[in-house]
Amino acid sequence: MERRPLIAGNWKMNLSLDDSVNLVKEIGAGMSGVKGVEVLVAPPFTALSTIRQAIGDSGIFLAGQNMNSEISGAYTGEVSGRMLQGAGCTHVILGHSERRALFNETSEVIDLKVKTAVLLGLIPIICIGETLEEREAGRTFDVIKEQLNLSLHNFKADELMLPSNILAYEPVWAIGTGKTATPDQAQEVHLFIRKWIEGTFDTKTANQVRILYGGSVKPENVADLMSQADIDGALVGGASLKADLFVKLIRFKES
Ligand code: PEP
Repeated sequence: MERRPLIAGNWKMNLSLDDSVNLVKEIGAGMSGVKGVEVLVAPPFTALSTIRQAIGDSGIFLAGQNMNSEISGAYTGEVSGRMLQGAGCTHVILGHSERRALFNETSEVIDLKVKTAVLLGLIPIICIGETLEEREAGRTFDVIKEQLNLSLHNFKADELMLPSNILAYEPVWAIGTGKTATPDQAQEVHLFIRKWIEGTFDTKTANQVRILYGGSVKPENVADLMSQADIDGALVGGASLKADLFVKLIRFKES
């Protein structure tokens, strides 16, 4: 079963509106002629509608960087999945390590968001990953398993796990640090995640769900990472803010 590679850019809280528009237009131009690779950007909420227009028919998917688990109501400062859809999003990143660490998002909270996203028809990109401390203590697989069990808790009971749902393995120690997991280190965890999906759901779903790697992905390391059997794409922070770098990632097959 072939899984179509996905190169996703998480712009975080960066770029002016003008710079965002220029960036997405340059990405659209740079990826022309690329076949068999999906491309996605996740701008800040305030840029979503404008970026949706700038994307035109270039085929770039649009994602929110977060959402609330409620659909509407008295939640000052929050944005719902339905609002993301109204702005043109098809995907939403959930459980990024910055949300977990800086905004106290627990796996239980992420579980509720994931469930709402799927019920609305948004494709969740669910992030998991261990800290350096956890890795050095030999706890990587325990941490990943616990995050999967808690963040996807609703999926099993409610049969919500869809082949289109996406997971992202992002070792916290590799995010924005310049330290990348080696292709072997990443593959080992990706395989573990796929086997967890197989054991929790079924083989077919496990073979279809895409698992992205995130953590200092750059033009220099993307091809080696993407050559691993269970790495189906990249979730990119820093290098997604520069059109030339991001286009090189999208064109990883040519490097
Ligand atoms: C991220 O924030 O998801 C990320 C992977 O960042 P970077 O590529 O900068 O390490």
